[in-house]
This record gives sequence, C-alpha cells and structure tokens, in this order.
Amino acid sequence: MEAPAIGYVSTRSPPSGAVSFEQALLAGLAPDGGLYLPTEVPPLPDGWRDARSLAELAALALPRLLGMSTAELEEVFADALDFPVPLVRLPRDRHVLELFHGPTAAFKDFGARSLARLMERSLARRGRHALILVATSGDTGGAVADAFAGLQHCKVALLYPAGRVSPVQERQLTLRRPGVIAYAVAGTFDDCQRLVKEAFRDPSLAGLGLSSANSINVARLLPQTLYHLWGAARVAEAEGREAGAELTVVVPSGNLGNLTSGLLASRMAGGIGTLVAAHNSNDYYPRYLHGEAQAYAFQPSLATLSNAMDVGAPSNFERLVALLSSEQAGAQERVLGVSVSDEETRAQLRATFAEDGYLACPHTSVGLRAIEQLRSAGEVEGPALLLATAHPGKFPEVVTEALGPDVAGLALPNQPADDGAGVPLEPRLEALRDALLTSLAP
Ligand SMILES: *Cc1c(COP(=O)(O)O)cnc(C)c1O
Repeated sequence: MEAPAIGYVSTRSPPSGAVSFEQALLAGLAPDGGLYLPTEVPPLPDGWRDARSLAELAALALPRLLGMSTAELEEVFADALDFPVPLVRLPRDRHVLELFHGPTAAFKDFGARSLARLMERSLARRGRHALILVATSGDTGGAVADAFAGLQHCKVALLYPAGRVSPVQERQLTLRRPGVIAYAVAGTFDDCQRLVKEAFRDPSLAGLGLSSANSINVARLLPQTLYHLWGAARVAEAEGREAGAELTVVVPSGNLGNLTSGLLASRMAGGIGTLVAAHNSNDYYPRYLHGEAQAYAFQPSLATLSNAMDVGAPSNFERLVALLSSEQAGAQERVLGVSVSDEETRAQLRATFAEDGYLACPHTSVGLRAIEQLRSAGEVEGPALLLATAHPGKFPEVVTEALGPDVAGLALPNQPADDGAGVPLEPRLEALRDALLTSLAP
C-alpha cells in the first residue's frame, strides 16, 4: 500500500502517542486505561458499492486502517467472514440485515472471527503465543471459543458461571475444541470477571501471554464496519437510489461496539444518515443523549428479555464521546437513542410475526420497536436498515413465551453434536492458576 498506515491513539492521551494497528490489536486496552481509536478514517473510493463480498469491501475500506495489503485483506476476510449476510425486506421500507448466520448464530461471530485471524497473524510474525482469557455470561464466549479453536499461536480459557447460562449457551461454550477449555466456575459472573482480573495481575502466569478478546479491542470494531457498509449498499440497490443522508440504521445496543462501528462506517461512506442506539431498559445511553444523564454516570445492569444487551456501563461510551466531539464529526451526523421495555419487546416480537410473517429474536425486536417509535414521533423518515443481531433459536424460552409453543424456525442450523462439558473450577485464583499452568501452558 502506497498511502501510509493510520495510527491509533487512546481516548485519553493526546494524539502524540500514536501506535500501530498491530500494537493496538495485541494490547487491547491502552496503557493509560483508555480505548484505542484511529487518528483518521479514510473515505472509501468511488464505486465501493459495487464490491461483491465483505472481503472485497475489506480490501477497499481497511488497507490503511489495518496496515495490510489488499491481497492480505481479501485473504483474511474471505476466510473470517465466509457465511451469508442476507437482507430481508419487510413492508414499509424496513430492511433487516441478518448478522446471525455465522457458527454461533449471533453477530459476535464477525468481531471474534476477524480478531482471531488478525491476532494469529501478528503473533506468528512475532514468534509469540497468547492465551485468551475470557469471562463470559452469554454470546461472547461461544463466539470467541469457536473463532480461536485450532489456532497455532492462541489458546483460549473461558470462565462461565456454572448453572447460570442458558442451555444453548452452555452447549456452545463447552463443545470440545482444540486449544479451548471451558471452566464452569462455582460462582457468579462477577466471580468469573474477578478471577480474570486477578489472573492478569498474577506474576506466575506472566509466561502464558494472557490476552483478552472483548469489544474494548479496536480490532473487533473495524471489521464490523463492513456489514454496515454492505447493508447500506444493499438497501440502495433494493430501493433503487443512493444510500445517503436519508438512511436510518438501527443498532440493538449494549456495550455500544456495534454502534461505534456504524459511526466509523458512516464516516468512510460520507454519511449513512441517522444511527439509532436501540437499548432495552438498560437505557443509560438514550438518557445521556436526551440530556437526562451525566457523562459516565452509569447504573447497575438490569436483567431483561434481550439479555445480551444487559449492560449498565457500556464500555464503548468513551469511544463515542471521543468520536462525536472530534473535529472529524460531520454536521450531518445524527445519533438517536431509544429505550424499549420488556413488554414492548414482547409486543413487537408478536406483531412482527403476525403482521410481517418474520420471526425476530428479542434483541432484533428492540430495534424493530425503536424504528416504530421514531417514525410515529416524526423523528426519522425514509428507509431503515435494521441489524438483526441473533438467531431467534438462541432464545427459545422468550420466543415461545411470546408466541406459544409450536413456533417453527427455532432450530439453530449447523450446530455440532453436543459432546463437551465444562471443567468444574472453584472461584479462587489458586485453582485457576493450577488449571491454566497444567493444561494450557505453551
Ligand atoms: C452483544 C450483543 C448485542 C449488543 O452489541 P454491542 O456491540 O455490545 O452494543 C446485541 N445483540 C446481541 C444478540 C448481542 O450478542
């Protein structure tokens, strides 16, 4: 690539301290505790909407951001994003982009599979090894385990609270996979998170090259721009007009990683139009946008029907503040926040099924409800792109409670046979240390 690679700076440091993409990728968090963001978001070349795959789009959008050649990008992303991303048209100019056709049936597969391949490539070049340590209560662990399984330079240890994840989630976490161990911790999710933090500070584990894989890593967010762009291009095609200022993109949100990716994508494409952060009752960000909450005055998380979005303190809030206050912020950029209750989510799930013949998961239903609210309030017009973040079959309890027991379409496709089990673990650092050193040392 002729044009220079773009550097990354922490949301907290002045821009003098820029690091390379690879450094940001391997570090995860910046040394000052902030989150990495690119110093610049290059615009896409004309004709980008003609790209025929996400990998081709990656070759147009990411060379300078990832410091990779177009050939390398095509190779990495053709392998990482090798599943379909269909657009389903619903009445009234609503277009649902299904992001759940990857191996673990939720959109986390995009970030996790991209991150795994990018990390493996960097570690191999440096002759290093890493152990990815993840505390998980839901979709992230399964996606990370699947994405990193069988890599030469990365192993994975998952910690989940025994008896506190759903049957579908437990099956995805504990499938037998090379280089991956799932520990069923006798405790809560908070115990799992505490153990991970303690392990990162434990000098006797330093030789394992501990690393993390959650959405604080900028390497998960950049590949997620690809489906925002892909969706905008497909809507333009379906509507027979340019996607542009009039397109509204609705993002079911928790940690706000997906929304941050949408904002980066909108800058690459010169404005997607309006982005909507659709939250459940964990509504800190909508309240902040409405001027009803101070910056960083987060609240404890609440349990809802859309449990992958039950986040009280969204980790990417800091990135959004930095992006939306920077000089790059375009005047046409608009981010709206909507909060949807469980009752409204259930009603929307029923209405979408009865009126449109479409079965949406609870998270996607939050998004579908948000666009109804904004349209009836006259806040948005024109076509809407709705991101569908999970397969409804991942949440059979919620769907059957809303629609009755005999709903078709809940079977998850391509799920391997259930052959694994979590390794029981006491919620103490010494127990985790022994387990990691005996089973996962390189
Ligand atoms: C993680 C997740 C979300 C929230 O995405 P963020 O990037 O954390 O905002 C929404 N829906 C599903 C199904 C998820 O797994």
